Amino acid sequence: MNRSPTDADPLAPLIASVIRADVRAQSAYHVPDAAGMVKLDAMENPYTLPPALRQQLSLRLAEVELNRYPVPSYGALKQAICREQQVPQGYDVLLGNGSDELISIISTACAGEGRKVLAPEPGFVMYAVSARLAGLDYVGVPLRPDFTLDLPAMLAALEQHRPAVTYLAYPNNPTGTLFDAQEVLQIVAAAAPFGIVVVDEAYGPFSPHSLMDELPRFNNLVLMRTVSKLGLAGLRLGYMSAAPALLREFDKVRPPYNINVLTEAAALFMLEHLDVLQAQAAELRAARTGLSARLAGLPGVDVFPSAANFVLIRVPDADKVFAALAARKVLVKNAGRMHGLLQNCLRITVGAEHENAQLLAALAEALQVSSSAPN
Ligand code: PMP
Repeated sequence: MNRSPTDADPLAPLIASVIRADVRAQSAYHVPDAAGMVKLDAMENPYTLPPALRQQLSLRLAEVELNRYPVPSYGALKQAICREQQVPQGYDVLLGNGSDELISIISTACAGEGRKVLAPEPGFVMYAVSARLAGLDYVGVPLRPDFTLDLPAMLAALEQHRPAVTYLAYPNNPTGTLFDAQEVLQIVAAAAPFGIVVVDEAYGPFSPHSLMDELPRFNNLVLMRTVSKLGLAGLRLGYMSAAPALLREFDKVRPPYNINVLTEAAALFMLEHLDVLQAQAAELRAARTGLSARLAGLPGVDVFPSAANFVLIRVPDADKVFAALAARKVLVKNAGRMHGLLQNCLRITVGAEHENAQLLAALAEALQVSSSAPN
């Protein structure tokens, strides 16, 4: 049955008595309509798979028994991930329906009266959203204006709040910054007496450095990754590794069949052909260098260094430039209102060559229009 908006009113008392007040006050995660646009807002890999590989994949998926539940241990997929992603010997992974689900599993497992989650800001919004939904208090610690970690502020906040969970995205979203590895490890060590530190390597494929090797040195370190930015965002598959005893606790919270059989089969197939995705990531890293240089050459544009598959820039008026880009069918992320430190910032995903060229041309025009248009 279709409901018109006016049908909502009779439901108001029911909703008020059933749905939590904080959920009612919240707005849903907004994903803008990108139909017909050059889509550079969501850090997706712009490349599809070569036709021969698609063909092989379709045959593999055709064999999957859709009538059966997945086998919830996901042994073969986990083994392949551990092997191909250099997970240390003796360490396992826990799979999530995207790393979004892993974040929510962590929140559920760690929530409790007075418990806290801490992260530098600006950072990935789901750390705070998921924490609050689980009833955890969230503490954001501002980065420095150049988006590097403010280590003394982080250490002081750890001491003051003793958070159960600290998140560090390495590299960070939405800034693209690769935090100093020694500073990250200092934070892991400082949190050890009371909390875990989740190092989120969602953008690992574009970064020169990983902290995966550090796992055996820290019992409180959790290393989280996703296949999303590597070219498989539609699969929804994330994974995390940690000391086995800690991982076993998180596994109790995981819904038993959280990875569907098609994702499982497709991921296994792609891990056999990882070289294709890694070559695409290498192209994107090279394109990032070129794009950053060309962006920096535009008048009035500041470019922040990025170790991810996107570039954060500051323009004179982000709202106007964003609108002028959208009018030219280019969709980027207007980060300007996400956080005080991000004033007038736009986050631009590195696209395919023709998309980057379209973006640059549209941006050059948008900057002119925005500087001449009245407020
Ligand atoms: N971590 C970070 C830092 C992200 O930016 C994102 C998505 N933008 C995620 C995790 C979630 O990724 P997934 O697609 O695996 O849910």
